[in-house]
Amino acid sequence: MTPPDYTALEADLARLLGPRGVSSDLRQREKASVDGARMSPIIAELLPLGVADLVAFPTTADEIAAVVRLAADHGAPITPRGKGTGNYGQGIPMSGGLVVDTSRARAILEVGDDTITAEAGATMSALEQAARAAGRQLWMYPSTVHSTIGGFLAGGSGGTGTIAHGSNHMGFVVALDVVTPVSRGELAHVEGDEALGFVHNYGTAGIIARATVRVEPLQDWRGVYASFDAFEEALPALRMLGRLSPTPRLVSADPPHIAAQLPPDPALPEGRASLRMIADAATVAQARAIIQEAGGRIEDVREGPGVSAALSVLSYNHPIEWLQKSEPGVYFHVEVSGDALVDRIDEVQGVYPGGMLHIEAGHAAPIGMLAGEYESPEAVYAGIERLTELGVGVHSPHQWNVDFRLAETLDLAARTDPQRLLNPGKLNPDYRGPAKGAIR
Ligand SMILES: Cc1cc2nc3c(=O)[nH]c(=O)nc-3n(C[C@H](O)[C@H](O)[C@H](O)COP(=O)(O)OP(=O)(O)OC[C@H]3O[C@@H](n4cnc5c(N)ncnc54)[C@H](O)[C@@H]3O)c2cc1C
Repeated sequence: MTPPDYTALEADLARLLGPRGVSSDLRQREKASVDGARMSPIIAELLPLGVADLVAFPTTADEIAAVVRLAADHGAPITPRGKGTGNYGQGIPMSGGLVVDTSRARAILEVGDDTITAEAGATMSALEQAARAAGRQLWMYPSTVHSTIGGFLAGGSGGTGTIAHGSNHMGFVVALDVVTPVSRGELAHVEGDEALGFVHNYGTAGIIARATVRVEPLQDWRGVYASFDAFEEALPALRMLGRLSPTPRLVSADPPHIAAQLPPDPALPEGRASLRMIADAATVAQARAIIQEAGGRIEDVREGPGVSAALSVLSYNHPIEWLQKSEPGVYFHVEVSGDALVDRIDEVQGVYPGGMLHIEAGHAAPIGMLAGEYESPEAVYAGIERLTELGVGVHSPHQWNVDFRLAETLDLAARTDPQRLLNPGKLNPDYRGPAKGAIR
């Protein structure tokens, strides 16, 4: 097959988007070809995994569709991109080609009683703000609040609100307008199960140009900050707090060493484990009682429109990112889940040298990020096996292959993208990881 003519594609894209709508500048291409994969020392050793030949910057959903059509006509690989905050290299254009940066297509189109509709590049914080102005709140958003709705649906899984509603695969997505190489520049409107086919598979079956997701009535949230002598005391409290009704939006906890890496705050006292929650105002008294009974101390209770965002940016992978930044080259992490995180904490933290758990109250069971000192890929994978034996659910953030409904995605992509132009390298049924070992 003849390679794509990128000079001709660039000229076509410039005609469509104007000269500022496309770039072949090396710095722009490199910038558009990285994500958060450096969080994994295993993937970091392999970087760069690919560099785009061109970057396009469509400003509307219809332009996203037209860009995909042009790239498909030229036979160019197409990797969609939001803000590039994904963790595993899933946004890296491994075959080069065109990166479609959707971040300028960010119009918020409609806020209804139950849903909000926006273009793919709208940020989660902009969506939450628009919902709030209409007396509503998003069902969920990730701790990377500046990431895009397209990137969150295609690459993320959950965050603030997940305790009540589960992951973004579970009813959050109401409808999508997607473009595929075979749709010839037309947007296909899909709803329900059909829309799920385009969720959490990294744009390999189609590119989300517009999304409609769920909102609910705005609640009066309080930021509750507590501390404990020992992390182990905070864990049963976290589990109980996650079961309060109305359900909190977030309950996070960290051992003292991780808490010490977070931005300085008098509500995060030195040498103590930290527990932070976004609680419905009606449950603050109950939350206080649970925390104090477990041996904890209330450090502060904050209110105002900013409390949700302030605590969200300290949740999920963010404490790990702070930890890695504070001691570069020392720590890796794996994503873990299950009650064993609370019930077998010593064994869980003992799996890796220097093991420390950041934990969140989850929908069915706690979710966490287990950090440890990095030795080798083999040691990481051996630890994953040990964690599995302990009854811990593990997702390895050291691999970029689609691992959510892979068979269904392969089937869908065979119809929507028979030439395999969409985000090549992420849909390999025989994939066993970037290095030898048992990873899923
Ligand atoms: C410190 C840190 C904390 C994080 N916390 C969370 C968290 O709490 N919850 C969570 O779920 N994730 C989390 N993540 C992962 C990531 O930040 C989120 O999933 C984020 O929502 C991704 O959005 P993005 O705009 O950056 O997408 P990108 O990183 O740009 O893209 C993510 C994936 O989706 C594809 N994609 C992008 N846009 C589209 C589109 N329009 N259509 C189809 N495919 C597309 C990309 O090709 C890529 O494969 C975290 C990451 C970091 C580094």
